Amino acid sequence: MKFTEYDDQNVFAKILRGEIPCTKVHETEHCLSFQDINPQAKVHVLVIPKGAYISWADFSANASPAEQADYVAAIGDTARALGVDETGYRVLANHGHDSHQEVPHLHTHILAGQPLGPMLEGGDLPPGVEYVRK
Ligand code: AMP
Repeated sequence: MKFTEYDDQNVFAKILRGEIPCTKVHETEHCLSFQDINPQAKVHVLVIPKGAYISWADFSANASPAEQADYVAAIGDTARALGVDETGYRVLANHGHDSHQEVPHLHTHILAGQPLGPMLEGGDLPPGVEYVRK
C-alpha cells in the first residue's frame, strides 16, 4: 500500500477522536499508548503521536522538535509503565510497502514479555531477494 496523503478515516485517527475504544497504557501531551488489538507477543503495545503523521518518514520530516522529543520519551516511558525494562523489549515501526505497514498513522510497536526470537522471521532474505547495501 502506498500512502501519500494522511487519511483521517484510519483506525488510529478514530481512536484519537474517541470514535472507537482502545485500552490505554500511557498518555502525554503529544502521544497515546494502547494495547494492540491482535497481540503478537505477551506484551504488545502501540505508541502513536496525536498529530496526523502517516509514518516514520512523514513524522521525522514534519513533526516539531517538541513532538519528536515527546514521542521518543513516550516510547521509553510506556515500556517502563509496562514493567519490561528489566526483562527487555523490542521497538519496531513499519514504514511503507516493504515493511507491510497496514495502518497509515505512525505507530511504534513495543513487543515484550517473552524471548522475542530473531529480528526478522527466519533471519534470512526470502529466496530470490538480494541484499543491496546503500
Ligand atoms: P502495522 O502492520 O505496523 O501497520 O501494524 C498495525 C497494527 O495495528 C497491528 O498490530 C494491528 O493489530 C493493530 N491494530 C489495528 N486496529 C487496531 C485497533 N482498533 N486497536 C488496537 N490495535 C489495532
